[in-house]
Amino acid sequence: MSVHYLIEINYLAAAALFILSLRWLNHPRTARRGVIAGVVAMAAAIGGTLLAPEIIGYSWIAVAFVVGTLLGIPLAMVPLTAVPQRTALSHAFGGLAAGLVGVAKYSLWMDQGQLTAFRTGAIALECLLGFLTFTGSLMAAGKLQEIVPTRPITYRNQNLVNLSLLAIAILAGVYLTIHPAYWQAFAAIIVLSLTFGVLLIIPIGGADMPTVISLLNSYAGLSAVAMGFVLQNKLLITAGALDGSSGFILSVIMCRAMNRSFTNVLFGAFGQVQARAQAGEAKTVKSATAQDVADLLTHADRVVIIPGYGMAVAQAQHRVHELYDQLTKRGVDVKFAIHPVAGRMPGHMNVLLAEAEIPYEALVEMDDINPELPQTDVALVVGANDVVNPAARHDKGSPIYGMPIIDADKAKTCVAIKRSMNPGFAGIENELYYADQTLMAFGDAKQVLGDVVKAIAGETVGVH
Ligand code: NDP
Repeated sequence: MSVHYLIEINYLAAAALFILSLRWLNHPRTARRGVIAGVVAMAAAIGGTLLAPEIIGYSWIAVAFVVGTLLGIPLAMVPLTAVPQRTALSHAFGGLAAGLVGVAKYSLWMDQGQLTAFRTGAIALECLLGFLTFTGSLMAAGKLQEIVPTRPITYRNQNLVNLSLLAIAILAGVYLTIHPAYWQAFAAIIVLSLTFGVLLIIPIGGADMPTVISLLNSYAGLSAVAMGFVLQNKLLITAGALDGSSGFILSVIMCRAMNRSFTNVLFGAFGQVQARAQAGEAKTVKSATAQDVADLLTHADRVVIIPGYGMAVAQAQHRVHELYDQLTKRGVDVKFAIHPVAGRMPGHMNVLLAEAEIPYEALVEMDDINPELPQTDVALVVGANDVVNPAARHDKGSPIYGMPIIDADKAKTCVAIKRSMNPGFAGIENELYYADQTLMAFGDAKQVLGDVVKAIAGETVGVH
């Protein structure tokens, strides 16, 4: 069999595995298989490419392999809370790689006089999307890591300036396709797309970055498709299309779960902390000690635990598991209510609870758990805020109005664990905390839950 056939078979197997991988990643039970399928597919894709007869030397490839491995290993070791910025960095590298391949191909074909309109058009698109993904993703990673200011940075006529830059870059691409040798247009595309990537992201609040990242993911996928056309590589076209469409679908799912539109995420400057309640409106909250919470929980028949971003920050998932074990041992019915955008990335809560080995059957999606909340004795909110804010149901002026929420306020008693009265992601006050049936257990979620677990076990605990 010729090498050519071997490569094609490799590519076909890789494409099939990429599709299966996405399918399996759809459910936690098959997700591990999905990850393995994705890794095998990528290995087959790289292996097939390395067999290509056009490769004249392997030394530079070996250097890239070593550098990539040295960068990749520490990137894979980041804690779960840093996964969104890690993902943004991966997209930045993907975008940069696509852009650089475009530059290399443009200069090579220019020298060889082989720049056709089709090739030049594909290169222009590849570079436009690749370079804007590069700087956009770097900014997104910077905001999530808080190296770049996380608040939305806005100025007058921002959208007009941004859209004009993009329009000029597209026009330069069209001009270049008609006049491939006009390298100045090519240079303009690179500069404009690098600038556009930065300007697109700075007006968006840091907390909106996960949605933006999955949108940038789809741009990176599309630039890989264009690169596939440039390099005449069918696998790159397939994998890029899968990447592009899955990133886009994910952004749509996230926007829907937040009841927000793309335009609101991209141009809405969401996440600026709103003015606090006016003086004179002083409201009181009732606080509870760990012992109070332990008593409430052990006397309950049904408990629903609602985890949120604060559980991820506190890394409290293992304490949650201990609490789950103690309560179920005492015959309490314990379930977890999973909101689709609780935390800062899709599936955030599922991943953390799975890591703590909480049985998957105990996790119930929002739409299925909500009808059960009125019959629930205690709703235990662990570091969740916006996803349990009743204002989303009735306050038309609230930025989260219309966002589906978990009805923690409908439980007979609600206990909320958080460190202070500070708002969550949306920057707004939560009326749930002031409700008659709500008790606040102030403190770090890991600490408070640890104390609650000790109290249930009959040990003495510090007062919060
Ligand atoms: P929120 O950001 O609304 O609230 C988290 C709460 O956790 C805060 O009020 C904070 O209060 C508390 N907290 C932080 N650290 C700790 C700690 N160590 N111990 C105890 N509590 C802590 O989170 P939710 O999960 O309720 O909502 C997610 C928000 O993120 C939604 O608005 C959603 O739209 C948005 N979002 C989600 C995305 C996703 O894919 N999941 C993507 C983009 C946005 P305090 O500081 O007082 O402790």
